[in-house]
Amino acid sequence: MVGTPELRDLPPPPLPKRSFDVAIIGAGIVGCTLAVALGKQGRDVLLLERDLSEPNRIVGELLQPGGVKALQQLGMEDCLEGFDAIPCHGYQVRYHNDPVHIPYAIGEDGKRPEGRSFHHGKFIQKLRAAAKAAPNVTIVEATVSKNLIKNGASGHVIGIRCTPRNTKEEICYFASITVAADGCKSNIRSDFIPRQVQVKSHFFGLELIDTKMPLKNHGIVILSNRAPVLIYQIGTHETRALVDIQGKPPSQTDGSLKSYMLGTVLPTLPEEVRPSFRKAVEDSKSIRSMPNSFLPPTMNKTPGLIMVGDSMNMRHPLTGGGMTVAFNDVVLLRDLLADVEDLSDSDLVLDKLAEFHWKRRNLTSVVNILAQALYSLFAADDDNLKVLQKGCFAYFQMGGLCIDHPVGLLSGMLRRPLVLYSHFFAVAFYSIFVMFKTTNPLLWPLCVLRSFMVFYTACVVILPYIWAEQQC
Ligand SMILES: Cc1cc2nc3c(=O)[nH]c(=O)nc-3n(C[C@H](O)[C@H](O)[C@H](O)COP(=O)(O)OP(=O)(O)OC[C@H]3O[C@@H](n4cnc5c(N)ncnc54)[C@H](O)[C@@H]3O)c2cc1C
Repeated sequence: MVGTPELRDLPPPPLPKRSFDVAIIGAGIVGCTLAVALGKQGRDVLLLERDLSEPNRIVGELLQPGGVKALQQLGMEDCLEGFDAIPCHGYQVRYHNDPVHIPYAIGEDGKRPEGRSFHHGKFIQKLRAAAKAAPNVTIVEATVSKNLIKNGASGHVIGIRCTPRNTKEEICYFASITVAADGCKSNIRSDFIPRQVQVKSHFFGLELIDTKMPLKNHGIVILSNRAPVLIYQIGTHETRALVDIQGKPPSQTDGSLKSYMLGTVLPTLPEEVRPSFRKAVEDSKSIRSMPNSFLPPTMNKTPGLIMVGDSMNMRHPLTGGGMTVAFNDVVLLRDLLADVEDLSDSDLVLDKLAEFHWKRRNLTSVVNILAQALYSLFAADDDNLKVLQKGCFAYFQMGGLCIDHPVGLLSGMLRRPLVLYSHFFAVAFYSIFVMFKTTNPLLWPLCVLRSFMVFYTACVVILPYIWAEQQC
């Protein structure tokens, strides 16, 4: 390995230790948990993070019950304690201020599962502390270069180059497996994943103080004539409001964004939330935003490299599924790699990664497709989608399995893609029924034509996402 011309020129690493079993790029949601899981397995793990101070971001603040369960499977449930995390019991969806209650569905154990919402940065620091305390894990604060170390023509990844914090000199580490867990803006991705990230909208985040919630311990989803707004408590006194804006957002600099928030968004919110929302908008110097990205999964095929988390797969954050997918991926990877004695056996590892790609689908395809399809309906911007949006809300109002199954899928507890497809098309047919029911019979001939368009729209909404999940 050291004999290749490329490696001869590489500078030595600063630690006495030069090579590891696994080098993980990014101590975020995936990176920390994977480091703990593999460290506990007896692997020698190097965890690299460009900035170990507490992040201040508007992402990853509501963990679904399926994610809580995965953290328990990893023995890391303590990370949810002691930092003012708020229990979450489900959702309230409000359609033009008409509310429907959607509690998390009772599980096989006869109990209602619980999610958690919190400050993202505080949770990350808990995960990093767990990684620091885990056996066999070394954490280094350094920015990893896009240019991974590869072994000659085969493209086999054998290590990373990085610049430690407060230094200018690039150093390198070697590992049997390099894991790219460098998040949504991954700079490693473009060299290994052919698919393009798609961004249709942005979430603008505000922190509301001492808001009276319409339903305590629940995420609130607000549907109106514009794209959805999400509200959930992230601390005893703090509540997050995420406002989705499609296309090019209004300008921050000339005040148009604030005017939009106060003039267009504020009137759609529940009465009790409005005063704190107004104050948060008026007090904010700049309203933070994040792109809502979609990236279907890709099978890891490069020897020596695993792409995982947002660097490999993203979906709209409306349903808060990203961390649930991430933690379940870590559980699966840990279990699949458990019987691989030598991680440098790249053929065996690639076989395991192919298994990983197909096995993760039961959960991830459900979360990915549901997030994208639900977002299309909730942000309805044409008449056919609006029929589906109205029908979807009416479907939820029927209660029973019409909410238990959808919320079971969303929460990461029900992992059956066929259940998702059957409810989606049930919503489509029910929407057509509701359209007839609420239309003057004299106009029913027009409704017949519209029915075909609504059904076609439903297919266009979901089929491309189902197709994307079948690719590798
Ligand atoms: C607006 C928004 C809201 C969301 N809300 C939710 C939610 O409520 N619930 C939910 O489950 N999911 C949510 N998500 C998705 C969730 O945040 C992500 O799925 C999750 O954070 C992905 O974890 P990750 O480990 O892949 O990336 P991250 O958690 O982003 O971690 C990546 C880490 O890599 C580090 N890094 C990056 N590049 C380098 C480098 N070159 N060298 C060294 N370190 C590097 C970063 O500093 C970071 O610490 C939301 C997403 C968005 C956009």
